[in-house]
Amino acid sequence: MKIKNLIEEKTNIFFLDQKEMPDVWYNIQADLKNSLKPPLHPATKQPISLEDMLPLFPLGLIEQETSKEKWISIPSEIIDIYRLWRPTPLIRAKRLEQYLQTPAKIFYKYEGVSPTGSHKPNSAIAQAFYNKKEGIRKITTETGAGQWGSSLAFACSLFDIECEIYMVKVSYHQKPYRKTMMQMFGAKVIPSPSHLTEAGRKVLFENPDSPGSLGIAISEAIEVALKDEKTKYSLGSVLNFVLLHQTIIGLEAKIQFEKLGIQPDILIGSVGGGSNFAGFTFPFLEKKLTNHRDLKVIAVEPAACPTLTRGKFTYDFGDTIGMTPLLPMYTLGHNFIPSPIHAGGLRYHGAAPLVSQLVLDQYIEPRAYHQKECFESAIKFAKTQGIIPAPESSHAVHCAIQEAIQCREKNQEKIIAFNLSGHGHLDLSAYESYLEGKLEDYELYDEEIQKNLASIRF
Ligand SMILES: *Cc1c(COP(=O)(O)O)cnc(C)c1O
Repeated sequence: MKIKNLIEEKTNIFFLDQKEMPDVWYNIQADLKNSLKPPLHPATKQPISLEDMLPLFPLGLIEQETSKEKWISIPSEIIDIYRLWRPTPLIRAKRLEQYLQTPAKIFYKYEGVSPTGSHKPNSAIAQAFYNKKEGIRKITTETGAGQWGSSLAFACSLFDIECEIYMVKVSYHQKPYRKTMMQMFGAKVIPSPSHLTEAGRKVLFENPDSPGSLGIAISEAIEVALKDEKTKYSLGSVLNFVLLHQTIIGLEAKIQFEKLGIQPDILIGSVGGGSNFAGFTFPFLEKKLTNHRDLKVIAVEPAACPTLTRGKFTYDFGDTIGMTPLLPMYTLGHNFIPSPIHAGGLRYHGAAPLVSQLVLDQYIEPRAYHQKECFESAIKFAKTQGIIPAPESSHAVHCAIQEAIQCREKNQEKIIAFNLSGHGHLDLSAYESYLEGKLEDYELYDEEIQKNLASIRF
């Protein structure tokens, strides 16, 4: 068996030659048993038309959103930029295995090697490209902790597009380094709520000290994009085309595993909106959808924001104020404000419609963990493998460790693979809090979930 050789060879990192990088994205919509329900217009509640979407997104992306074509070519301009850091390595976490004394083999795909330290540029580059192609001069977006903002700022600087980022005010002040990154790439960063938009002024009028939220920042960024036809809006997760762009991760990993002559038994990713999880797992799910291969696919979310494990599958808004189309997804209700856990990228009330549909159809198993246990696992990982995971990614790390411990108890030599979506070098203050014992777990009661779900008007 190849896996035996692999252990004897003492190989840890499985690189892929740049010439072997995939030149198509995988569109899982082509293989779904139950197709997605269409997004609905927020006012009329009728399926939205292309014309409804055009003020916000370029046609190239709207076409990808609804495409049923299985393989979508990656334009060579995008591949050229991907080559700045792709293909990313597939790494065997051998020292973690030894520490856990598990017969399981643990692999991770490492997206932290990208310029901004996470998977997010995979879609930011593609979105900037399609906007540039259609003559767009400015892109607006929102960002929480700043992972998405810094990735889009980087992408816009490569395509010479103006970038305006509404950053949740509390993060703007608490996370100054990501703000500086965005500014270094030439973006304009505005603390949200701001006085520049009606949405921002309305919030500030009611509460001058508002710390802001992703929902408010989305409303501001959309409002600015709608006012100028050379300006469009960009979103870093949830939508089908974002998940599509991220499939480069799983497609590479598939080739890396094929070259090793092995196949993973368990696949794991963390879920905020669902883009890194989908990007890593969808290319492997293809087989499960088309010929029922036995494969366990686990989507990990924070217990403080348990969209997939305790939410409801229904139509809901993507933002707090109700400006976006209604999407069919698992949601905790658009009014749900998650507790201030440190995995900022996982604090979202909904989940991508594609991930939601596959959870509903039981192809994906959702799981929730508290932040303290995830940080504890992240530290085990850092001590053995040397990489400090982003707090978001620590959820996937923790799940992989739980699965590896189960393999030890059952004496199973399974192959576990997870996506390490980013490094945590700009999140050290969160780890500092953990080490000082200041981190809290937040219990979420059923009454609160039910109260928020009841507010969904659909
Ligand atoms: C943004 C982010 C996430 C969560 O977003 P998804 O769209 O669910 O992938 C996870 N990990 C990292 C490092 C992030 O920056």
